Amino acid sequence: MHKKLFIPGPTEVREEVLKAQAQWMIGHRSKDFGELNKRVIEKTKQVLNTKNYVFWYTSSGTGCMEGALRNVVTGKVLHTVNGAFSDRWFKISKACGKQAASVAVEWGKAVKPELVDTELAKGGYQALTITQNETSTGVRNPIEDIAKLVRTKYPDVLILVDAVSGLMGDWFEIDALGLDVVVASSQKAVALPPGLAVSVVSQRALDKCRTVADRGYYFDYDAMLKRYEKDFQTPTTPAISLFWALDLELDSILKEGMQNRYRRHVEMAKFTREWTAKYWQVFPEAGYESVTLTTAANTRSVSVKDLNGELGKRGMQISNGYGDLKEKTFRIAHMGDLTMADMKEVTAAIVDILKL
Ligand code: PMP
Repeated sequence: MHKKLFIPGPTEVREEVLKAQAQWMIGHRSKDFGELNKRVIEKTKQVLNTKNYVFWYTSSGTGCMEGALRNVVTGKVLHTVNGAFSDRWFKISKACGKQAASVAVEWGKAVKPELVDTELAKGGYQALTITQNETSTGVRNPIEDIAKLVRTKYPDVLILVDAVSGLMGDWFEIDALGLDVVVASSQKAVALPPGLAVSVVSQRALDKCRTVADRGYYFDYDAMLKRYEKDFQTPTTPAISLFWALDLELDSILKEGMQNRYRRHVEMAKFTREWTAKYWQVFPEAGYESVTLTTAANTRSVSVKDLNGELGKRGMQISNGYGDLKEKTFRIAHMGDLTMADMKEVTAAIVDILKL
């Protein structure tokens, strides 16, 4: 049975997009694949309004998080942590033997520019990581304010952004903010199945990568670019089926218009947040709520597991809280190709099941 996914990844994928994958295989060294890859890269740049390098990897987002560290981090790196995924980047950094430091705030709270300023003022940092949309708590960090602060006061510090659950749903200006690396996965607001991840890389990040001898192999930006220069091929075998799906989805995004897509996300977020405030409590700090998912504090102490079981019978699925927040919170995603009608359907079903 098809369950419509209101979980923050993998998110609901339209049937047309699923079907785009079902084509006879082509060789990845063929002219056809090169043309497909070129189209995908150009359309991605157009959607994101960026002139930076775009590298689509056959990987999940975590791979690109590790790749960013390996490519450009040679000195001290500051990780801002306010949930499970921002903490993951810190852990990856330690696993890669980087000089990793972290500054943490309570789950549910946002990372503020003042906190970043206090830490960077201590000096010696080469890079900073920020999680644009912390999926474990539903907090959207103020990356615009943080980036403006860093670009003004600490111009040499590289800014690495995890936009895994925000990119192509939420909106921020990559080039104007001077973001050096932005990473995201296909199975979130891009509304594709899992399996692809993107890194958007600035010129100075690419220049830096070229000076790093032990930057690794699979995610090497320079190697990727060198292959692109040869008829838009990729260094290793890509998930070709997913590239077909991506090609189609990018057409849909361009047709809708990225700003309209963003407005649709804002509208769905507002609706879901207001519904949450009416029946529960909004978990994230006020003013920093995610545009792509809403986290509700389970103030009625219902069994989220049982609720999801009942929703399942009606062909829908939401997400329990993450880690320690399981059963204490639940999450409703409104990302990708979901619509206001979908949000009305899932929230009405919850009201009906729980007789609210
Ligand atoms: N960062 C964030 C903010 C995420 O939400 C996720 C996935 N839930 C990841 C990183 C990891 O992405 P992936 O599962 O694609 O490796």
